[in-house]
Amino acid sequence: MFESTLKNSNLINNDVTFKKKIIMDNLITSLTCPICMELIDKPIEVKCCNQIFCQQCLYHCIGNKKLCPMCRTSITNYESYIINTTSSVFLHKLIKEVKELQNT
Ligand SMILES: [Zn+2]
Ligand SMILES: [Zn+2]
Repeated sequence: MFESTLKNSNLINNDVTFKKKIIMDNLITSLTCPICMELIDKPIEVKCCNQIFCQQCLYHCIGNKKLCPMCRTSITNYESYIINTTSSVFLHKLIKEVKELQNT
């Protein structure tokens, strides 16, 4: 009786760990720049597909092609397509924490 309860609680724990891992993986994916494939540095968001890029990567890409690197929307006016999130304290904190987690 006791043994089976123990087994069950272990199972639940594993399940929670697994779910946490999936959430972490999703979080890392959302915080990874699709251009350089690294965790985002100075996050900047585009309005066309709500994708976040590093400021530098996006400027470099738009400078060459004038297209959104994700959805290929033509970007003629930076100001109207880009949501500057570089000052987002929340995003910076989140990225910093994920970086630290990856380094452990
Ligand atoms: Zn990048
Ligand atoms: Zn886009």
